[in-house]
Amino acid sequence: MGKTKDAWSIDPEKSLRASTVGPIADFDPASKPGFDGDRKTGEKLLAEYGRDLSDLQERLFAEGRSGGSRSVLLVLQGMDTAGKGGIVRHVGGMMDPQGLTVRGFGKPTREELAHDFLWRIRTALPPAGKIGIFDRSHYEDVLPVRVHGLVPEAKWRGRYALINEFERELVAAGTTVIKCALVVSKAEQTKRLTKRLDRPDKYWKYDPSDIEERAHWDAYLAAYQDIFDLTDTAVAPWYVIPADSKWFSRLAIARLLRDTLDGLDLQWPPADFNVAEQQRLVAALED
Ligand code: AMP
Ligand code: MG
Repeated sequence: MGKTKDAWSIDPEKSLRASTVGPIADFDPASKPGFDGDRKTGEKLLAEYGRDLSDLQERLFAEGRSGGSRSVLLVLQGMDTAGKGGIVRHVGGMMDPQGLTVRGFGKPTREELAHDFLWRIRTALPPAGKIGIFDRSHYEDVLPVRVHGLVPEAKWRGRYALINEFERELVAAGTTVIKCALVVSKAEQTKRLTKRLDRPDKYWKYDPSDIEERAHWDAYLAAYQDIFDLTDTAVAPWYVIPADSKWFSRLAIARLLRDTLDGLDLQWPPADFNVAEQQRLVAALED
């Protein structure tokens, strides 16, 4: 798959795997683990991955239409300004929107709070044949919820095991799960927040509470570390995505998603009719 000489010296499934990258507090969000190319090479490769993704997604969609039960879920997490929306737009945007379901998760509504934390997640899962993208997810319930003590510690501590069980069931039912945490540096976040305030077309992205969240940076890093230590499983792996360069985070996630889909060995569904007979009938049609 692919034509451009691939500039990955280490497969990102290895080089970016949470268990490989080491402590998140020491991780460099400007690094490019496993990738030796420059931006130009990266952009060329991204276009190539896009073509692969588009083909693979259509196969998955076709399988779903033909009675298959498989789907894919891409979970995106990351601090404010890390670029989750950009991944949805630029990686999701390389595929047919008909084959995607995109869901964002904000502060829970009153109705959502009345249910257990996985309730709203279950209602948003991709149906057969689709690729679901979550912009934030059930992991918020062990991120801001933990950092701000929104529920007692015993409760959020119990959630890692519940999440693992939930994801295990999801995968057993035919959904392939891939989880990406975009990691941005404080300096880059400052730049992006400044830009949001400089440009009227970016005001809508600015949230005054982002500054407040930033004051809890280390607590968030600790919460992410626990997520990686406790929920990076063989069935639902976590990847750590350096996010200071947008082109690189898009490239890395496109590649991980492509390889995930490639691993499903998707085949075009065979005809459930007699092709030769239909060819004869169509050839005999009068215009
Ligand atoms: P945004 O992604 O910019 O639209 O912001 C959504 C906000 O909702 C972020 O501040 C999240 O941390 C917050 N959020 C999402 N899920 C939860 C949750 N389960 N509990 C508390 N806050 C949440
Ligand atoms: Mg925001």
